[in-house]
Amino acid sequence: MNDIADLSEWLNQEDLTRPVVIAGPCSAETPEQVMNAAMQLKSRGINIFRAGIWKPRTRPNCFEGVGEKGLDWLQEVRQKTSMMVATEVANARHVEMALSANIDILWIGARTTANPFAVQEIADALRGKDIPIMVKNPINPDLGLWIGALERLHNVGVRKMLAIHRGFSTYNKIKYRNQPQWQIAIDLKRQLPDLPLFCDPSHICGKREYIEEIAQISMDLNYNGLIIESHPNPEKAWSDARQQLTPDDLAKMLNRLVIRTSKVENERVLNTLCDLRAVIDDVDNQILDLLEERITIIKQIGEYKKVNNISVLQNDRWISILSRMRRKGQAKGLNPDFISKVFKAIHSEAINVQTRIMNNEDL
Ligand code: PEP
Ligand code: MN
Repeated sequence: MNDIADLSEWLNQEDLTRPVVIAGPCSAETPEQVMNAAMQLKSRGINIFRAGIWKPRTRPNCFEGVGEKGLDWLQEVRQKTSMMVATEVANARHVEMALSANIDILWIGARTTANPFAVQEIADALRGKDIPIMVKNPINPDLGLWIGALERLHNVGVRKMLAIHRGFSTYNKIKYRNQPQWQIAIDLKRQLPDLPLFCDPSHICGKREYIEEIAQISMDLNYNGLIIESHPNPEKAWSDARQQLTPDDLAKMLNRLVIRTSKVENERVLNTLCDLRAVIDDVDNQILDLLEERITIIKQIGEYKKVNNISVLQNDRWISILSRMRRKGQAKGLNPDFISKVFKAIHSEAINVQTRIMNNEDL
């Protein structure tokens, strides 16, 4: 998938500065609300308007979108403001209706990305069409499903694509509505380096007061753009009322974002970075040497346990290692949860190695 069209090419803008911003209400509600939102956003420099007209809701009997008539309202926005307009599609019929209404950009929502049948149906309806598609991550943290959706679109000839990180469902109570999993998006970027990546802080946060911190993190991770929900009267929104910003608050928030560059041009800065990176490389090599040494000892212990008929897992010892390392790590200013993750990974590999020794498997 290396032939993904350049974002600036499909947005018809030569000089794209980060972040490219797509904004608009969660849902189109009335013709007045749509036009009011669009005019206010346009006057604050936003050029791409979003609004959902078919809304996938978790529970029935909620507002499920205004449906097809919303397409006319989006067309009006297009004509009056010359903004590009974007909406969500979840099946082939939506795609056909959106295409005939000249919608500029489509997106596939998180619940749909999780369903390969639905994505394939959408892809089939898009065969031979030249419309940009944005693919949100699936609700569950499965990179394969996300890439699979992009591949299904690529296979039918879609070349103007981008990915949106909108966070992942968890059953646990967390600060955000959907857990951001930055590493999953970094893994996506590693596999598809040319694919533009956007962040949807609205659906990650669930509450407007957190949007800025998440938008800032995404900018620090070099995301190309943001898709943010904005409503003229957020408290009265028919869906996702707590996470929408007024156009004015959105503009103020965007102004406060600090946009750092990923390209280092200043020679002095570059030299300092190079020196520091050389130190990091050296530390990484030491970590590898220590891991090698640790595994060598783990193997000796494994052999010894086998000869003496001692079980692999020594739970008390493991519990004491973990709590000692967390304590010591904390004293050094290291996050105990990070230390737990590192030592759990190390311990799990030790258990693997020793069980293979017990079963006379090759290492
Ligand atoms: C939306 O963008 O309004 C939406 C429904 O998002 P998601 O698919 O990320 O839940
Ligand atoms: Mn929404």
